[in-house]
Amino acid sequence: MSSIVVIGAGMAGLTAARALAVRHQVLVIDKGRGVGGRMATRRLSTAGEPGNRAGGVGPSADHGAQFLTTHTAEFAATVAEWQAQGLVAAWFHGLVGPHGVGAADGHVRYRGVPTMNAIARHLARGLSVQVGTRVSAVRPRGRGWVVETDRGVHEAQALVMTPPVPQSLDLLTAGGTALAPDDAAALGAVRYDPCLALMVPLAGPSGLPAPGAVDPAAGPIEWMADNQIKGVAGEPVVTIHADAAFTLAAWDAPVEDVARPLLAAAALAGEPILTRAQLHRWRYARPVVLHPEACLVAAGLPPLVFAGDAFGRPAVEGAALSGAAAAAALT
Ligand SMILES: Cc1cc2nc3c(=O)[nH]c(=O)nc-3n(C[C@H](O)[C@H](O)[C@H](O)COP(=O)(O)OP(=O)(O)OC[C@H]3O[C@@H](n4cnc5c(N)ncnc54)[C@H](O)[C@@H]3O)c2cc1C
Repeated sequence: MSSIVVIGAGMAGLTAARALAVRHQVLVIDKGRGVGGRMATRRLSTAGEPGNRAGGVGPSADHGAQFLTTHTAEFAATVAEWQAQGLVAAWFHGLVGPHGVGAADGHVRYRGVPTMNAIARHLARGLSVQVGTRVSAVRPRGRGWVVETDRGVHEAQALVMTPPVPQSLDLLTAGGTALAPDDAAALGAVRYDPCLALMVPLAGPSGLPAPGAVDPAAGPIEWMADNQIKGVAGEPVVTIHADAAFTLAAWDAPVEDVARPLLAAAALAGEPILTRAQLHRWRYARPVVLHPEACLVAAGLPPLVFAGDAFGRPAVEGAALSGAAAAAALT
């Protein structure tokens, strides 16, 4: 048995950890309150509703990945298993347009049951996962690694890093660790688009067409979904993802200033309850310049593998395949 630390409990980190845990002692560390990373679901408080100042637990909204698709036989087999276990269900077939589901493209869009985050929580079962723990630096020691966190220090014989690449590079820099020039150049080329994600409960039905998703042809909205129609929430809550141009322009704006133009463009039937609106700023939402391989094994250092949705192919599928490739590289 050797010890491996996996940084990040998103799809890539959890997939790598599950494969590695068959033969190794594995610890997964994530700074988030729970597992899942960008497969994220938030519970909206009811505070702010008339006559409910203290607030309670309100409905949920998927605010990161909205669905998953399969383009490879490997991931299709995994998703078929999840479907048999009741972890995912077909949400719709084909592409979403301004009026809901439009053209067929031969692909099923699967949703998590009941939420996207539930898939990650299932994958984390049985693993040793430390959430709420931020890694601050990593540095080589002997043939292995020292992983510094805000809750203590871990030693590992190998390291898998799955945060968005710029964040992984920051951890190496903080540890005074230099990559080989080729690796530094390859990883330095990776780029992501940011995304503002607005979640708003409504006083009545959203009016979005079944199955509850719309992709307007023009900005500022890239995507919106009704979490009630999708099966995530018991009452109407919309998730609105701003497009990249609006996101960049409004990045630092307060929630009201983001909500106003997005809700005007959304033209929902139900009245938005603005006092309960929440905003999540995804700085590294989706990779737009990817590393061509499914993972990168660092040269000239103790065992270190970079993985995530910026390696090989994007999205939840890419993250899962990259996590599997990282595990194979260390086995
Ligand atoms: C708004 C939005 C919409 C999307 N829509 C879709 C979609 O519909 N379909 C689809 O397939 N994909 C979608 N995606 C992309 C999908 O969510 C990602 O491709 C996938 O979830 C990435 O998984 P990952 O494991 O590579 O990274 P992540 O999920 O980002 O996991 C990395 C983890 O590392 C942790 N971490 C980072 N730094 C540290 C640190 N210093 N210490 C400890 N932990 C750390 C983070 O907390 C995070 O949990 C969407 C993404 C966003 C943001």
